[in-house]
Amino acid sequence: MPKNTAQTNNTPGISFGSRTDVGHVRDHNEDSLTVVPPLFAVADGMGGHEAGEVASELTIKTLEQLAPAHPDAQALERAVEAANLNVLQAPSQGIGREGMGTTLTAAMIEGERLLIAQVGDSRAYLLHQGELQQLTRDHSLMMDLIEAGQITPEEARVHPNRSVITRAIGSDPHMKPDIYELNISAGDRLLLCSDGLSTMLEDGEIQTIMRHTPSPQQCASDLVDAALQAGGYDNVTVVVADIEGFKHNKVVKERRKSHALVIGIVIAFVLAFALGIFAGYQYVNNSAYLIEENGTVSVYRGINDNLFGIPLSSLERTTDIAVDDLQPGVANRIKEGMSVGGIDEANRLIESYEQDITRQNTEDLAQNAPNNADANDHDNASQADRSSADEKPADGD
Ligand code: MN
Repeated sequence: MPKNTAQTNNTPGISFGSRTDVGHVRDHNEDSLTVVPPLFAVADGMGGHEAGEVASELTIKTLEQLAPAHPDAQALERAVEAANLNVLQAPSQGIGREGMGTTLTAAMIEGERLLIAQVGDSRAYLLHQGELQQLTRDHSLMMDLIEAGQITPEEARVHPNRSVITRAIGSDPHMKPDIYELNISAGDRLLLCSDGLSTMLEDGEIQTIMRHTPSPQQCASDLVDAALQAGGYDNVTVVVADIEGFKHNKVVKERRKSHALVIGIVIAFVLAFALGIFAGYQYVNNSAYLIEENGTVSVYRGINDNLFGIPLSSLERTTDIAVDDLQPGVANRIKEGMSVGGIDEANRLIESYEQDITRQNTEDLAQNAPNNADANDHDNASQADRSSADEKPADGD
């Protein structure tokens, strides 16, 4: 792992930066880091004579090889345990020294999930909505004393035994990391750091820098600069990861979903409207009515109404049928417009009216004919009577 270098890169959803520095006091930088999304890790080695550097590098390399491709707590824990065994066994193969060890704070980020494996006193912090919270609990003598109420966090930061850790990679073959799993949000900023940062800066100072640096690389650089300015008593290593993309992707997806939904609804409405128009058209086109015009019956296709002022009918035919010649009930209905089942039915009715009228005329003629005959007979009889009457006096004369 190159020292005193800054690394930055971008992957969808996460942008990140990192920096490590030997500081102003130490000869070696025994810290190591990795940024290979979704894996981010910081390790702070110890052991002297460069062994700490070996322990932290070996741990980071083991993790890079064995960490799962996606956040999986059990798989990440197994990778950390493998790193522990590698560090324990390395001295027997001539690598490093007996008693060397390292902290490890490893994070895996995917979507809204953040998985952390924790050993020792390096830390993970999360800046969420501008508020900095420490995610990990130190495995350190100081933390034990603080939790026991024997010292304050402020006292711990300057305590001579502040570097004593109670759990480390490379000391116990049965060592297990603490595992944290939590949800994160777009806009969150994750910080992993060695104690060279957290013992040099108070949480409030870390929070201020994390709030006010736009890019994660700038943030990592500014944090290291601040630790160096504060004294740089220890190696200082910082990884900063901004959670930015997945929410955006999600929003875009949701937008696409809602676009699809809106388009679907619009299509449904258009279809329903078209069906309605078609059905309405079919209904109107298959309807018919009879109505009086200039005293005769006309046949209209459609319905005797209008839609927004547009007539829903058209003249199919006129007839010679005088409305007054029809039966009074029918005539009254036709004067108001009489709906019928369709043009065919209208035509059948017209035909039947014509037949009725013809029959009526024929009957009238037939009725008138006998009446005339009777009248003639009567007249003849009268005349006969009259002639006979006339004749009688004549006969009498
Ligand atoms: Mn350190």
